[in-house]
Amino acid sequence: MASTETQGILVVGGGMTGITAALEAAEAGYDTYIVEKNPYLGGRVAQLHHYFPKLCPPLCGLEINFRRVRQNPRVRFFTMAEVENISGEEGNFDVTIRLNPRYVNEKCTACGKCAEACNIEIENPFNYGMNQMKAAYLPHDMAYPPRYVLDASLVESDEAQKVKEACPYDAIDLEMAPKTMNLKVGAIVYATGWKPYDASKLEAYGFEQYPDVITNVMMERMASFSGPTQGKILRPSNNEAPKHVAFVQCAGSRDENHLPYCSGVCCLASMKQATYVRDQYPDAKITIFFIDIRATDRLENFYLNVKKDENIEFFKGKVAQINPDEAGEGLILKVEDTTKESLHEIPADLVVLATGMQPNTLDNPVPAQVAYDDYGFISTLDVTPGIYGAGCSRVPTNVSECVQDGTAAALKAIQSIARR
Ligand SMILES: Cc1cc2nc3c(=O)[nH]c(=O)nc-3n(C[C@H](O)[C@H](O)[C@H](O)COP(=O)(O)OP(=O)(O)OC[C@H]3O[C@@H](n4cnc5c(N)ncnc54)[C@H](O)[C@@H]3O)c2cc1C
Repeated sequence: MASTETQGILVVGGGMTGITAALEAAEAGYDTYIVEKNPYLGGRVAQLHHYFPKLCPPLCGLEINFRRVRQNPRVRFFTMAEVENISGEEGNFDVTIRLNPRYVNEKCTACGKCAEACNIEIENPFNYGMNQMKAAYLPHDMAYPPRYVLDASLVESDEAQKVKEACPYDAIDLEMAPKTMNLKVGAIVYATGWKPYDASKLEAYGFEQYPDVITNVMMERMASFSGPTQGKILRPSNNEAPKHVAFVQCAGSRDENHLPYCSGVCCLASMKQATYVRDQYPDAKITIFFIDIRATDRLENFYLNVKKDENIEFFKGKVAQINPDEAGEGLILKVEDTTKESLHEIPADLVVLATGMQPNTLDNPVPAQVAYDDYGFISTLDVTPGIYGAGCSRVPTNVSECVQDGTAAALKAIQSIARR
């Protein structure tokens, strides 16, 4: 039997998968520790406008989970934190965690006075760099914990003292420094999730040249009320309403030169985003260019419903190239209709690239001996006892599968502890 000290479970990554794993284990009586790199919990789901298939805002589901976290004393979480080292073995791991400075302590009420006093602006990572924000910021409107962050560029500037003095609650600590802490745990769930495939590598699509070529994750932020355009879907080149929106499926996916695999969610994400366009612009034309549609099980109904819309065309063909039109105002997509074997040049004024998902472990591998599959996802075939990959760090998938996977990983972690 493991000692009480090593009966805890470490969960790395505080997205939907990690939060689920931590809550399920805690509700079964185990102390859990979430280590999250961002200043907030929720992962990429917090950046989505709506969820397929229900088309409801994901923040509702997240809020329910945050309440469960708040109410369960067995769950502790650390934001702006990363795992530096893991040693030991199943049932008895020693973990070193680095806590990066937020420069704002728990006295913060999120009143925003620091942001009012701050003139320095930085790129907004939550909106994928589509706008600027103050260097004293709340990561997003519904951020949990609801606490501001000071960017290092502000802390090192002449403005820092003025911003500190603007806080009525003495919540700003400019001396905050990185710290490390050690934990002993019996098992580890690795749920560090995914990042979007880098669209600048898709040279034929001109993502870096043409402002009206955006990615699917950018579309999520553009459609969101808290996004860079306050929820208005606009052409970035001129801030006007689009008349013809094209979705390019498998942008880099199922392609030996980029990602040879299917991420399983991009078709559904584009169909969902077609409903965003439809809601705002009932007369806009929408074309979804696809190789084949991946909408399995119950999600088939979602596809069939979207397909009923006469203004949404499903065009079977892989887009080869995107160029500006002659007037330099719109874009032309070169595409082969694979049902008729004919070549087409189709105009559009906003193009959304449906890029796939890559595991974050490519950039930040688990600091322990762990096997990965050919694409960098944590392997399920060759598992290190006591360390379990879950959610999109294991396989690219949707939220409901991630929730099931987080639950399964919690059970495996509990079994690991029980074995010792
Ligand atoms: C365009 C698009 C739209 C989508 N829309 C939907 C939808 O409508 N419905 C649906 O069901 N699914 C949708 N998905 C899929 C959904 O986003 C994923 O299923 C979900 O984000 C996976 O959750 P996760 O917790 O596994 O990973 P993530 O959401 O990526 O969370 C991982 C967490 O780990 C943290 N982390 C990363 N590295 C470290 C580290 N080294 N140390 C500590 N923490 C770390 C991250 O900051 C993050 O908080 C969509 C995907 C795309 C691409």
